[in-house]
Amino acid sequence: MKFNSMNKIKDFFKTIELVYWVIASSFVLLILLGSYLNWAGNKKLALLDEKINIITSSIKLLEENSISTTAELKKSITQTHIDLSSALDNEKRNVGEIEDLLGVYKKENEEISGTITTLEKLSKTDPELLQKYSKVFFLNEHYAPARLAEIIDTYEYYESKFSKIDAQVWPYLENMLKASLSDNLEIYVYSAYRSYEEQNALKSLYTITYGEGTANQFSADQGYSEHQLGTTIDLITTGIGGTLEGFEETEAYLWLLNNAHKFGFTLSYPEYNDFYVFEPWHWRFVGIKLATYLHDNQIGFYDLDQREIDEYLVNLFE
Ligand SMILES: [Zn+2]
Repeated sequence: MKFNSMNKIKDFFKTIELVYWVIASSFVLLILLGSYLNWAGNKKLALLDEKINIITSSIKLLEENSISTTAELKKSITQTHIDLSSALDNEKRNVGEIEDLLGVYKKENEEISGTITTLEKLSKTDPELLQKYSKVFFLNEHYAPARLAEIIDTYEYYESKFSKIDAQVWPYLENMLKASLSDNLEIYVYSAYRSYEEQNALKSLYTITYGEGTANQFSADQGYSEHQLGTTIDLITTGIGGTLEGFEETEAYLWLLNNAHKFGFTLSYPEYNDFYVFEPWHWRFVGIKLATYLHDNQIGFYDLDQREIDEYLVNLFE
C-alpha cells in the first residue's frame, strides 16, 4: 500500500513537471511570437515611413514644379497677351491706313464720277438753251429744237393752234399750268415755239402794220430768238379780250411773278429792263435753279454775264 502511494506521488510530481514545461515553453513561444510581431510591425512602419517620405518629397517636387510651371505659364500668357495686343494694334493701324486710303480713293472716285456726270449732262445739254440774245447776236436761222412736244389743248388759248414746245421743257410747263389752275387761275399758252420762217412772216406783218421802227421794238430780234429755241412761251389769261395787252394788270401775271421760278421759268424782259421792251407775257425756261436765283435776287436773266449763266447749264433739267 505504501509503495503504491509513493508511485502515485511520483506520478503527481511528474504531471506537475510536465505542466510546468508546457506552460514554460508556451510562455517562451509567446515571447518569441510577440517579438516577431513587434519586429515585423516595426519593419512595416519603417517601410511606410519611407513611402511617406518618398511621397512627401514627390509632392514637394510637384509643388515646386507646379510653382515654376505656373510662373512660366503666367509669363507666357502675359507675353502672348502683349504679342496679341501689339499684333491687334498693328492690324488696327493697318485697317486705319486702309480705311484712309479707301476714303481718299472713294473721294477721288466720287469726284471723278461727279465730273463725268457733269460732263455727260453738259454734253447732252444744248448751250443755246441758256444763251443771251441781242439785236446783234441772235440764233442761227437753221436752228431747230432737238425734240418738240405738242402742248395739249387744255392749256392752249387757241385750241386749233397745235403749239409746240421743247419736249424736255413740256413737263415743267404742264406742271406750272396745272398749279395755276389749282390756284383758280386760268393761264393759257398764247404762243410757243416759232420757226425762223414763222417768225420772219410775223415780223413782216408787224413791219407792214406799224412801220419798221415800232416792229423792231416789240417783235424783234431778242424775243424772236427765244421763241425759235422752243423753250419760251407767251402766256395769256381770260378777261383781257384775247390779246396780250394788259396782261401785267392781271392776277395771272402776279401769280407768275411769285411762282414761275418754281417751275424753271423767268420773265425775259421785266418792267424797266435795259435791254428790251417790257413783255409781261413772255416767259423763258432757264431751269429751276437759275430761275430761283434770279427770282430771289430780283435780277433779270439779261443782267447776268453769259459766263455766270453758263454755270447753270448743268442744272437746266433738274
Ligand atoms: Zn414772246
